[in-house]
Amino acid sequence: MAMTSKTKPRVVIVGAGFGGLNAARSLVKEPVQIIIVDRKNHHTFQPLLYQVATAGLSPGEIAAPIRGVFRGDDNVVVLLEEVEGFDLERRVVRTREQDLAYDYLIVAAGATHAYFGHDEWEPLAPGLKTIEAALEIRRRVLLTFELAERRALSGASEEALNFVVVGGGATGVELAGTLAEIAHHVLAKEFRSIDPSRARIILLEGGPRVLPAYTEDLSRSAEDQLRRLGVEVRTGSLVTSIEPGAVRVGETRIVAPVVLWAAGVAASFLGKALGVPCDRAGRVLVQPDLSIPGHPEVFVVGDLASLKDEHGKVLPGVAPVAIQEGKFVAKAIRRDLAGQPRESFHYWDKGSLATIGRAAAVAQFGKIHISGFVAWLSWLFIHIFFLIGFRNRILVFIQWAWSYFTYERGARLITGDTTLPGWSGMQPEKPEVTSRQKEKIPTARAG
Ligand SMILES: Cc1cc2nc3c(=O)[nH]c(=O)nc-3n(C[C@H](O)[C@H](O)[C@H](O)COP(=O)(O)OP(=O)(O)OC[C@H]3O[C@@H](n4cnc5c(N)ncnc54)[C@H](O)[C@@H]3O)c2cc1C
Repeated sequence: MAMTSKTKPRVVIVGAGFGGLNAARSLVKEPVQIIIVDRKNHHTFQPLLYQVATAGLSPGEIAAPIRGVFRGDDNVVVLLEEVEGFDLERRVVRTREQDLAYDYLIVAAGATHAYFGHDEWEPLAPGLKTIEAALEIRRRVLLTFELAERRALSGASEEALNFVVVGGGATGVELAGTLAEIAHHVLAKEFRSIDPSRARIILLEGGPRVLPAYTEDLSRSAEDQLRRLGVEVRTGSLVTSIEPGAVRVGETRIVAPVVLWAAGVAASFLGKALGVPCDRAGRVLVQPDLSIPGHPEVFVVGDLASLKDEHGKVLPGVAPVAIQEGKFVAKAIRRDLAGQPRESFHYWDKGSLATIGRAAAVAQFGKIHISGFVAWLSWLFIHIFFLIGFRNRILVFIQWAWSYFTYERGARLITGDTTLPGWSGMQPEKPEVTSRQKEKIPTARAG
């Protein structure tokens, strides 16, 4: 194998998510040079993004600077760069500014949202994938209550305080459940002209049940728990269009100042850029050792890889798969360097957990199915354990304990723009506060 350096082979890792980060961490003690390229300077703990979107946690508590993670590892170079493609014959990664030569390449660029061919819906219904997206969702959610208060104070008729979440998978369920908690508990006593608890949280799922990746009994339990939290669950509801301030399901038009997208994912374009066969979602059909056909020196891991387990089922796009795959390819490189044959990847499924909201969750550990408080506690401790950085674990634990007992959510900041798509058209012209309304301000609550 052609080496970029006479001494140590160079491993270029694209993406410092769960897959890339774990590959790098497992390689740092080996005689290799590592270059990690990511378009963000931080690793994001995506399972807790919904907490940032719903003002429970601040971004710094669920993200870690990549450079900081590898502070003590002299053989790791971190590059803040966007990867644009590859030249597999020349063994280079093409970035915006330069070509990076490699001996081994690990592509772990993850997935993004899919709007089923309706990319025009994206600005109207943001999805939850990055810190930036979570902050935009937080802005829209909190701003809706503020605008509603302002509007009620102006004497105009009340705006529908509807929040629509599209997609009843794990992300949609956790977003809907937590939005209900915010509206019905956290904000309930803080507004004077509106009653936040009249907000409707509507979860639209195109299929027959929420959490379709779980067993039917757990889907049913999740639906019951959502209803108890105050979420309206509508299954069999395929969204047919999204417009500013509203969603259509067939003939039904649902007015909603906030629409959130949790319905589909597509692999990063870098999968197709490798020029090897991909599945319909753009995930690379990898070999049993996670390399790509014809290039044993190129691996794809995590959400960008498509591999079937021994029962013929495609491995799910979840963090444990990405973590185990990242560690596996590091081991494969280690074995190459030691002159040992490669092994095949096997996923060790330790179970699945989905949180729904306060003290509500479902968990599936083989034949053991748990719902409610115990599942929620398991979810909480497992996620805190896997957070990157001891400081973050402590901070998140304290925040959670605090908000569990007080119903407070500490990160309720509206930053950036103070307009919402679809809201301005509903505003009355030059609202005027009458003396009667002024009197109402300190005490009364309308609605
Ligand atoms: C909201 C949400 C909640 C989730 N909840 C859970 C959960 O509770 N449990 C669970 O197991 N899984 C959960 N997942 C799934 C889990 O986060 C993913 O399976 C996992 O992150 C995949 O890891 P990865 O390394 O493949 O990709 P990612 O973690 O997505 O990392 C990809 C990295 O590549 C970088 N990148 C992408 N393109 C480029 C480029 N062109 N150039 C440079 N860098 C690039 C990105 O910046 C990113 O850092 C959730 C996902 C989301 C979005």
